[in-house]
Amino acid sequence: MKTRLVFLGPPGAGKGTQAIVIAKKYHLARIATGDILRDAIGRGSALGLKAKEFMDRGDLVPDDVVNAILKDKIHNTPDGFIIDGYPRTIEQANFLQSAIEIQRVIYFDAPEEILVQRIVNRRVCPVCNAVYNKLENPPAVEGKCDLDGAELFHRTDDIEEVTRERIKTFWQKTAPLVDYYFHKGLLAKVSAERNVGEVTAEIEFAIQTE
Ligand SMILES: [Zn+2]
Repeated sequence: MKTRLVFLGPPGAGKGTQAIVIAKKYHLARIATGDILRDAIGRGSALGLKAKEFMDRGDLVPDDVVNAILKDKIHNTPDGFIIDGYPRTIEQANFLQSAIEIQRVIYFDAPEEILVQRIVNRRVCPVCNAVYNKLENPPAVEGKCDLDGAELFHRTDDIEEVTRERIKTFWQKTAPLVDYYFHKGLLAKVSAERNVGEVTAEIEFAIQTE
């Protein structure tokens, strides 16, 4: 069983949804860089305060700060982890490689039209960050999170024009990581256009095989 995992794929591919399902089932920590930055800031750690300086100015938090916070986090997850939304560049992948041995990278492959449809119909929980989709993966009660009952919201950048731009950025900056991990023998590709249960089964197969 592989327990040190990276989920890689374009926005809308369902990484967040699957990270929650797989993390819960196998007792892995779910690490999303946005969440760990907010967490470090909330705890008032030295790195968190440094990250806050940049965020308060509206700047991107530089790689060395994100990397240090991430490294701190992964070394505190003895049962394993899923990193969702990182690395985004070859430089970050090299850093991750030097920090810990990743055992499997799940690549979520899906056509652009499916991704766009998913994102414009996406609703997010402000409490636990669970992601729903009005068409494919609706909550049990409309507008409420299944896990904590919080009111779901529509992110302001989840509109078609912005979505296509984010997908383009993924192809330009992050897609080279698909080759990078393939050549390291770590890549497992899943068909992310399939439904949530089918994708979960594909991921489970990929982390349970050598
Ligand atoms: Zn929730």
